[in-house]
Amino acid sequence: MHEIAHPFAPSVLRGLKGRCPACGRGSLFWRYLKVSGRCEACDEDLARYPADDGPAYVTILLMGHLVVAPLLFFPIVWRSNPVYSAPIILSALAVLTLLALPRVKGGWIGLMYALGVKDTEARLHTADAAE
Ligand SMILES: [Zn+2]
Repeated sequence: MHEIAHPFAPSVLRGLKGRCPACGRGSLFWRYLKVSGRCEACDEDLARYPADDGPAYVTILLMGHLVVAPLLFFPIVWRSNPVYSAPIILSALAVLTLLALPRVKGGWIGLMYALGVKDTEARLHTADAAE
């Protein structure tokens, strides 16, 4: 069990903003979802915090519970012709998902930073380590 290595809320909030979870000044990503190797402001090694599939799972969970499920309560979704409504709804959902994913990944890396979980320790939790 990990203890909190760094302040939890500031680290996660900085990550959600796409900023370095350590200082909040440097950029966390150098491309859409590519994590910068090192923070240009404080030289924190950002690449060692694992993200793997976590942000994708959290994004799917958020979109399913906060967008898709509430959308099903609106009768227009059920009554409209799916030939017209499906492309509109699915493209809006794709845009929302693509907007949420980098923020969720930033928050995830901020969480890993706050908990002090590094890439080398994450490998111990895989099924390969049990063999
Ligand atoms: Zn930094």
